[in-house]
Amino acid sequence: MKSANNFTFQVAIVGSGPSGFYVAEALVNSGISTEITILERLPCPYGLVRYGVAPDHQKLKSVSHTLDAIAEHPSVTFLGNLEVGKDIQISELMELYHVVVFTTGMPGSSLLGINGENLIGVHPSSTFVGWYNGHPDYQTQSFDFGHDTAIIIGHGNVAIDICRVLTKSIDELRKSDIPDSALEVLSENKIKNVHLIGRRGPVQAKFTTKELHELGKLENCNVSINPKFLKLGTACQQELDEISNQLARKNHVIFQTYINNFKEKNADKKQIAIDFMLKPKAFKGDKKLQSIIFEESHLEGTAFKQISVLSNRLLEISCGLAFTSVGLKGAKFDGLFNDSPKETLSNVNSRLVNDHGDIIYGMYAAGWVKRGPNGVIGTNRECAQDTVDRILEDLTIFADHSALGRNGLMSILKVRNIQYVTFDDWKIIDAIEIEKGQKLGKPREKFTSVSGMLACI
Ligand code: NAP
Repeated sequence: MKSANNFTFQVAIVGSGPSGFYVAEALVNSGISTEITILERLPCPYGLVRYGVAPDHQKLKSVSHTLDAIAEHPSVTFLGNLEVGKDIQISELMELYHVVVFTTGMPGSSLLGINGENLIGVHPSSTFVGWYNGHPDYQTQSFDFGHDTAIIIGHGNVAIDICRVLTKSIDELRKSDIPDSALEVLSENKIKNVHLIGRRGPVQAKFTTKELHELGKLENCNVSINPKFLKLGTACQQELDEISNQLARKNHVIFQTYINNFKEKNADKKQIAIDFMLKPKAFKGDKKLQSIIFEESHLEGTAFKQISVLSNRLLEISCGLAFTSVGLKGAKFDGLFNDSPKETLSNVNSRLVNDHGDIIYGMYAAGWVKRGPNGVIGTNRECAQDTVDRILEDLTIFADHSALGRNGLMSILKVRNIQYVTFDDWKIIDAIEIEKGQKLGKPREKFTSVSGMLACI
């Protein structure tokens, strides 16, 4: 695509997780003359890679090196510690830039909406994940690991991440980049039993096989499944046999290995039980969580259209700690529209739309905030390319006027006396974190406060 003479396309990207960087990369690769500003609320980049990917999955976090190369491209400027909607308004960005792309991910957790969800001891996944990953927003949260039993509701990979953090020994966790402040609390962990509870069956579980397999390899843990859960009805068997349903088949092989552990009662080992077909009904307790009531259910209907039918049989499991890991949801922005229930930004083919479905020209979305939380990190690269393809299709709409872009933004920030963080500033923070980590034998020791990061520069 050729740009008109002297035309520099000014793009603001809101959010510096993988999707934000991949949008920048696709724009750079498009060959048009572009100036890209990536705006980030925190002083540090990488979003989900830094604060969502499990701290014991450092290999996955190494994708940040690819993102660094994008940030250092001459057409790209990273500006951290800038909150859109507070330090700079969306309407101002729309005046300064030809287009604004939202790549703000899914920072929040979906809730169950059942009684007792606000009892002490019940935590949404994002709170715990944010806390153990050192996210500044979650450092005042407190978790009591002095109980014998914890329950994790939900059968997705976030639930497995949480399960590993609860069951790994403190020495194993010390090798991760969990901040020392969280390790200190986790060193008091007394949990012996973890129930990983899903509302549907093994064929419908959303775990990926690698993560499910890893669970069975944890030191001093016994992962078990009651064999009754693996006796499949006709429709579930059909779902399992469906050629495209490789995930369920591979998972089923792993599940089978866990039924062999069902009878093992080695008191020295932590017990992880994967339970199915239990719908959460209520959290019980007086201020503090004491137990969770589930209703047993079964699936009825044809393959891939089965619905959960409740049995009226209730099961109460005592526990003092629970995590709800039942999906994620996006952040809301004043003046923009969200689709329920995931609260993705309302969009048609990446173009944001208003509540009448009309396109809001110049506004786009990419990544989880566009399509919901699914896929792996690489999926966001394709998603970002797709968004940029739509932007390039619309380029003629914007090519007839110039935009102040980054320079205009910098002027406003100067007048407002806002201390933004550049990518070079971030590299100073990064180097300090790595150096502190090396002294502790871990990949990095994160700053867990914004002020701590800002004090470095
Ligand atoms: P998820 O994969 O969508 O799993 C959510 C789970 O919550 C499902 O089992 C779902 O059951 C259950 N659920 C939803 N509503 C419920 C309700 N009202 N009551 C009971 N259960 C309910 O979500 P996630 O675990 O948050 O993961 C989000 C994304 O991040 C996924 O793409 C995941 O693969 C990715 N991720 C990847 C990794 C990794 O690669 N290592 C790590 C973490 C996260 P139903 O199926 O019945 O709806």
